[in-house]
Amino acid sequence: MSVETIRTVAVLGAGTMGNGIAHVFAARGYSVVLRDVEQRFLDRGLDTISKNLDRQIKKGQLPETDKAAVLGRIKAVTELSAIAAADFAVEAVPENLQIKTEVLKAADALLRKDVILASNTSTIPITALAAVTSRPGKFIGMHFMNPVPVMTLVEVIRGLETSDETFATTMALAEKLGKKPVAVNDAPGFVSNRVLMPMINEAAFCVMEGVATPEAVDDIMKLGMNHPMGPLALADLIGIDTCLAIMDVLYTGFSDSKYRPCPLLKKLVAAGRLGRKSGRGFYSYT
Ligand code: NAD
Repeated sequence: MSVETIRTVAVLGAGTMGNGIAHVFAARGYSVVLRDVEQRFLDRGLDTISKNLDRQIKKGQLPETDKAAVLGRIKAVTELSAIAAADFAVEAVPENLQIKTEVLKAADALLRKDVILASNTSTIPITALAAVTSRPGKFIGMHFMNPVPVMTLVEVIRGLETSDETFATTMALAEKLGKKPVAVNDAPGFVSNRVLMPMINEAAFCVMEGVATPEAVDDIMKLGMNHPMGPLALADLIGIDTCLAIMDVLYTGFSDSKYRPCPLLKKLVAAGRLGRKSGRGFYSYT
């Protein structure tokens, strides 16, 4: 399917990433079918989109008069059958192989055969997800960054069977969203998390070994390397449980000790110090 024929996009999951993905498609004129399992998750997602649109209006990035039109293009549904109308689909359900397998199989059975099915997974191999569907040639990774309306990058991941046409259409579609797609092949952590997470992990080792405080580590990376945010503040933002899960994927995926998760990450997760979302991680947010 060529990018010009895509009008309606299905987004599976209305959480952190799903509502952001729905937002950017609707803002660029696409009709969106946003699906989640319960109405309250859809309401929460739509509320976030509304607030983020307000923020864009305040910054002068969106005319105030466009808000209703953008929201009007998003149809929020709990019944999965509504996605049958889609010309392109993006899956953004929780990072859990069992949930993703169930959702992708069900979506695959409903979507037209010419429709590309993309996954926003951060770490699960695209080739493995593609294999649970009947369309591995039309399956691809479309890894948006958080927050989706703000971040420019889309990491586009080709699975082993992803066709050239699927790849070209997905790259062109990301560009139509005003994003910068960057192509990579399927490997544990892709490129984004394979490079980012070992840095965060090493920063955690520096703290665990008493080399420096979290503030000192973050200052060094901000002031010395021009990072907008230090790696440990970023770990708190991402969620330390998520960081640990990604390190585990790298460690087992490559069977290489260089990806050994830092024991301090494990300790913080065991203590419930997951970062911003729990009020405390490397830093305190209360
Ligand atoms: P989330 O938990 O915020 O949202 C997931 C949503 O999926 C929830 O609203 C949940 O109710 C819904 N859901 C569960 N089962 C479903 C089903 N069967 N059908 C439809 N919806 C269902 O998670 P998230 O942070 O948005 O992550 C989604 C995906 O994006 C994951 O694969 C994650 O790894 C990836 N990702 C996350 C980030 C991030 O910073 N949060 C960044 C890049 C990629």
